[in-house]
Formats: sequence, structure tokens, C-alpha cells
Amino acid sequence: MRASRVCAAYGAKVAIAEPGRFGGTCVNVGCIPKKLFSYAAHWREDFHLAAAYGWTVGEPRFDWQTLLRNKDREIARLNGVYERVLVSAGVEIHRARATVVGPHEIEIEGKKRSARHILVATGSWPQLPAIPGIEHAITSNEAFALERLPKRAVVVGGGYIALEFASIFQGLGVETMLAYRGKRLLRGFDVELGTRMAEEMSAKGVTICFGCEPAAMRKKESIEIEFTDGRIEQTDLVMFATGRRPNTARLGLESAGVKLAADGAVIVDRYSASSVPSIHAVGDVTNRLNLTPVATAEAMWLARTLFRGEPTPVDHENVPTAVFANPNLATVGLSEERARERFGAIDLYKASFRALKLTMASGKTERTFMKLVVDRASQRVVGAHMIGADAGEIIQGVAVAVKLGATKAQFDATIGIHPTAAEEFVTMRDQAA
Ligand SMILES: Cc1cc2nc3c(=O)[nH]c(=O)nc-3n(C[C@H](O)[C@H](O)[C@H](O)COP(=O)(O)OP(=O)(O)OC[C@H]3O[C@@H](n4cnc5c(N)ncnc54)[C@H](O)[C@@H]3O)c2cc1C
Repeated sequence: MRASRVCAAYGAKVAIAEPGRFGGTCVNVGCIPKKLFSYAAHWREDFHLAAAYGWTVGEPRFDWQTLLRNKDREIARLNGVYERVLVSAGVEIHRARATVVGPHEIEIEGKKRSARHILVATGSWPQLPAIPGIEHAITSNEAFALERLPKRAVVVGGGYIALEFASIFQGLGVETMLAYRGKRLLRGFDVELGTRMAEEMSAKGVTICFGCEPAAMRKKESIEIEFTDGRIEQTDLVMFATGRRPNTARLGLESAGVKLAADGAVIVDRYSASSVPSIHAVGDVTNRLNLTPVATAEAMWLARTLFRGEPTPVDHENVPTAVFANPNLATVGLSEERARERFGAIDLYKASFRALKLTMASGKTERTFMKLVVDRASQRVVGAHMIGADAGEIIQGVAVAVKLGATKAQFDATIGIHPTAAEEFVTMRDQAA
């Protein structure tokens, strides 16, 4: 979508092939519906909190069909917006699958078409393990259109999609288990974030099972899921979020000479060019950093390289990202562990507190956590991490400073906005032990 629009704006004659709905994974079965579901799930806590602020709320009831209907209406609206954007950019639209047949040739619905440049942006698809009874499990794709909300669910995985769906199900009233074969959630993130997220999510009612790897599933009245250690759980829904695979099967790429990695990803250089110079690839199909804003940035850099005479390499440094679980988590830059590897000596600053909004709530409430990782030699802030309400909104601002190479002293010289949680990022004075 983005590459088509921007290349056309730079004067290229562009055609797009898309058999599905416009907007790809993000709009149809990814970021957007996921965030809407995440908002829906959060209301449970908000109703509870409202009482502490003097509101009388009746017994809250949740209707899954209303959420689905309203979500579908919003996605259909976005599909329309995207299509109109392409039409007004003058992009030729083919509502069909395409395959590559040569360095400059593709085939759509049996017809061959030629082009100076071919861009592969076919995304990725959920991966399921080959275990007995896997047909009884769903992936995130199906989770967005469930006929009924189950009473119990097991979400398998320990990455961001698994955490988000475990929080969504739990928030909507489903008895939820998160089953992860590893020992700590969110591999690749700062270790402390994974540990704290497990504590927070458990406190909110998600049962987390570490070292739990499904071995088989049997459908009886409910679904029986057996783990490799012999443990057996009864549930009504099993959702696997155990990774995604680049969409390159039966695309004709290998026969056109395009080199693929073992996982099927298109191997590209810093300018998103494949081993065949006229064939490029961006987004999840290259399995570099699988996030929407990264895919769209890669598309824009490529458009600049090809059609504006400005060769622009990809820049994957300091990409901020969020996990819209409950609580939210967001991060930019290096984890403590990666920073230690890269710089040796680092300084750490941390804050952990109960957000003001929650101080009047009864019972145990989540704790906001913030962490700055500083390279001791240059005093530059090389990582900023947060768990807590609106973490994504807050880290997006902090990411500008990190990207610009701001020092800890420059963070400190910034006046906070009081009272906010975000102000803690500019008032952390004492180094953490
Ligand atoms: C549940 C979930 C939640 C997510 N949440 C977030 C989030 O909060 N934030 C974030 O940044 N990222 C999120 N992501 C990741 C994000 O959706 C992807 O990184 C992004 O969509 C990648 O864009 P893309 O253009 O590379 O591929 P896609 O969006 O997958 O688009 C690929 C398109 O290619 C089409 N296609 C495939 N094969 C062919 C063919 N042969 N011919 C023609 N067309 C073809 C497909 O129909 C599809 O429309 C999420 C992903 C999932 C699954």
C-alpha cells in the first residue's frame, strides 16, 4: 500500500495485486482490531476503578457480538479509505494473487505483465507446530472472528501476540491460561520486563504456565490439551501464537532466482534489494523487524531509492515498540543485557510506583515500572523501557530523544509535566543498584 502510493507520487507507473482486503495484516487481523479488542478488555478494570471515584455502575455485562460488529464496521471503513487512497494516487488495482515468473515479469490471473521493478510485500502467516490434534487450535487470524467467546482459553506462546491475546481474553471474562515453553516471557526484550510482566499479568488473573509445551490436543466436549510433561488441561479454545512465517510459498521467487533464507524470508540488502536486482522486498516477508511502521518506512526508503534518485538504506536502529497487553509495555533502544554487551559499563535508573489514578482503588493494583539504560562512557540514554498505562504513548515521545542521542543530563534538564507518570523519565536521579 505505502510503496504503491509513494512510488506513484514520485512519478512511477504502479500496479498492485492484492487478493484480500486492503490494509494487509495490520488493518484486518493485526494491530488495529487487536488494539480495539485490547481497549474492550480494559473496561473491566475501569468499571471497578470508577466506583472509587464515586460513580455507581451497575453490574457490567459484555456482549462479544457487539464488539465484533463494531470492529468489523470500522475495519470495512478503513478498507475503503485504503482503496480510495490507491485510486486517487493513480495506482492500477488487481484484486488477485500474483506470482513472480522472471526478473521483470509477474503473472496475475493467468496473464503475464512486465515491470522495471517488482516489489514483494506479501507479509507473513501464523505458524503451527505439527502435533496431533493441531486442527482443534486457532491462530490470531481466527481469534478476530470467533462466533462465541469461550469460557476458558489456553493461549500458547510467550511473545507479544500471545501476551496481548491472553490479556484480551482475561479482560473479557475468559478463564485464561498462558502456556509458554520457556522460562521468561518476551524473549529479546529487557529481561526485567519479561519477569515483571509475568507478575503483573498473573496478579490480574492470567494463569501462566512456564515450561509448558503442548504435545497433543483431543476434542471431546471441551478441548483436552496435553503438555510434554504429561500435564493435561481442559479448555474451550486453544490459540497458538508461536511465530509467523514469511509468505513466500508458491510465489515463484526461487525459480526467478531470488534467494530465500531457511525460514522462507526474502534475503535483501540494506536497500531492500533481493539477489535479483530488479526484485525488492519489504515488510514481514523479509523477516527483519516485523512491525507495521517498519514495513511502511522500508517502503518509503525504497521509493526514494528507486524513484527519487536518493539511495536510502534501511535504518532499524532505535525502533520503538509496544506490547498492548494489560498492563501495556513499551520500549525503545537497548535492553540492559544488550547494552552491557555493547558498551561494557552502563548506568541504570529505575522507578516503580503506583500510578496516581490507581491510588484510590481498593485491592492490589498494578505498579508502573520505568527503566533507563545509559552508556556510562558517553552518558547517552541508549534504552528506555516502561510497563504501565499508556506506555506506548509515552515511549513514542521518549524515542525521539533516544534516536537523537540525548544524554542523561539532557533528560534531567527537561522539566517534567506534573502530575504524570511520564515525568518520572526526567526525574530519575539515583542509579539503581
Ligand atoms: C495479531 C497481530 C498483531 C499485531 N500487532 C501489531 C502492532 O500492534 N503494531 C505493529 O507495528 N505491528 C503489529 N503486527 C505486525 C504487523 O501486522 C505486520 O508487521 C505488518 O502487517 C507487516 O506488513 P506487510 O506489508 O509486510 O505485510 P502484510 O500486512 O501481511 O500484508 C501482506 C499482504 O500481501 C497480500 N499477499 C500475500 N500473498 C500475495 C500474492 N501472492 N499476491 C498478492 N498479494 C499477496 C496479503 O493478502 C496481504 O494483504 C501485528 C501482527 C499480528 C498478526
